[in-house]
Amino acid sequence: MITKGVPLRANGLQSLQGTSVCDLISRANHSCRPNATLCPEESGIIRLVASTSLKPGDEVLISYLSGEDLLRPTWARQRELQRGPWGFTCACTRCAAPDDARGMRCARCGSGCHFPHPDGRWTNCTACGLAAGEGARSFEEVEDDWHQAAWLCLTASESFRNWTA
Ligand SMILES: [Zn+2]
Ligand SMILES: [Zn+2]
Repeated sequence: MITKGVPLRANGLQSLQGTSVCDLISRANHSCRPNATLCPEESGIIRLVASTSLKPGDEVLISYLSGEDLLRPTWARQRELQRGPWGFTCACTRCAAPDDARGMRCARCGSGCHFPHPDGRWTNCTACGLAAGEGARSFEEVEDDWHQAAWLCLTASESFRNWTA
């Protein structure tokens, strides 16, 4: 079924023709670590293509989020899945694991990273094993500073754009 201008996002698939509800692939569940992707073609066909090797019995999982959203931290992906047309809390393997989008470079070796667990603890350094919390400042403080600096840069660049316009 192909519709135009009808909000079918929860079970619909964006194709080049409009939004489709496909009998089989509309049932594919979401994962923030998908093993398949949807490939719409000009003919209106939407192919479901594996992005990793699948064994018999593996669940085929796609991402309901955009590629850009998949690069965001767990909390931001969860927010999108809650407030989008889907309205669920994702419990995929990636959301249950340390947040790979919020790594903090190790202060001792400089090559490994610490990542936050869903329960708020941080992993040991992936390279040298330094325990989290041995640094002088908490990662949350460093992350807050980084967000503040990014916000200031964004504000300054917008001011500059308005000033030069
Ligand atoms: Zn997830
Ligand atoms: Zn280290």
